[in-house]
Amino acid sequence: MEHKQDLIVETPFLGLASPDIRDEDIAAVAEVLKSGMLVQGKEVAKFEAAVSDFIGVKHAICVANGTATMHLSLVAMGIGPEDEVIVPAFSYIATANVVELVGATPVFVDIDLKTFNIDVNSIEAVITSKTKAIIPVHEFGLAADIFRIKEIAQKHNLLLLEDAACALGATDKGQFTGSFGLAGSFSLHPRKAVTSGEGGIITTNNDDLANKLRVLRNHGIEMRAGEMDFVAAGFNYRLTDFQAALVNSQFKRLPDTLYYKKNLASIYFNELNTDRIILPTVPEGKEHTWQTFHVILQDDVDRATLIANLRTVGIGTNYGAQCISAQTFYVNKYGGNAEINYPNAYRAYTKGLAIPIYEKLTKEQIAFIANKINKFV
Ligand SMILES: *Cc1c(COP(=O)(O)O)cnc(C)c1O
Repeated sequence: MEHKQDLIVETPFLGLASPDIRDEDIAAVAEVLKSGMLVQGKEVAKFEAAVSDFIGVKHAICVANGTATMHLSLVAMGIGPEDEVIVPAFSYIATANVVELVGATPVFVDIDLKTFNIDVNSIEAVITSKTKAIIPVHEFGLAADIFRIKEIAQKHNLLLLEDAACALGATDKGQFTGSFGLAGSFSLHPRKAVTSGEGGIITTNNDDLANKLRVLRNHGIEMRAGEMDFVAAGFNYRLTDFQAALVNSQFKRLPDTLYYKKNLASIYFNELNTDRIILPTVPEGKEHTWQTFHVILQDDVDRATLIANLRTVGIGTNYGAQCISAQTFYVNKYGGNAEINYPNAYRAYTKGLAIPIYEKLTKEQIAFIANKINKFV
């Protein structure tokens, strides 16, 4: 312990993210591989049961990745051309891409810079007769203002799909994200709290939607009296069983992982220099998952230089998410000046910084990272 400082300096590169894959996880995967039953099977069913139980919803449906969860949900909800879907202007780009994939139009709403979540007060202004759905994102693992969003959705008859990709285990007033909307969408990518490599899972209380999702993920097959019937032009969005075995093994540790990450986050809250860095806000009543620890740099801090300097001392950082309406595809298709129209999303995109937070990092390493950030800002 007296050589802590030396140990830290000798640590390999502290990247922005790294999954915690343990021997027991690998053994669980190997077991399925040896069985020869590789595609959607009993491990998938087991994970679906575990997640529906954990979130407190009737159904959970595994698919191939997080983007597929939202694409399939929009298809199953019947969203298509002529429809408008409200999305935050700041998120991982998949939130808007899935709207494009079903031929509908994403309508962007700026975010609240304190929480990085959709600004609820700006939602109603963009609702038109064409608006069919809203996809709030629980950005970086913090629940959006979901009770108010749900009220707005009900008032205007909008379908509510929660992008909870980063928010497995996040709560608002004790209720889990993914249980508020018609459907909730989770990613199992290695950057999320538990992983299957690629993978995703959809939660819903709606029997009819759950059935459609199960049929659509598997080539449109419905079983009738033991016979296959092809009732829809479906997808192959199945998750493999060995991937599900990996995430089943990891899922057992989720409460511990979330607890540990909360401790890591509190070190950043205590250590980071708030004269130069604006820390995220966690409103009363919400439990953050800390999928990402995302800060905003003061205007006179040059982010590129900071990222480069941190790299020289073995720390990986990057911007946290995109201002979607500022990306080439969306600029070319819809025009507009994102910097003017979505100033908070644009600021989060250009001045935001995601810094390492994951189970494999020790508390000392987090303090080390905070110290280096303070030094370079
Ligand atoms: C990770 C993520 C996605 C995409 O999930 P994939 O599994 O990578 O397809 C979508 N939305 C948000 C907010 C994400 O963080």
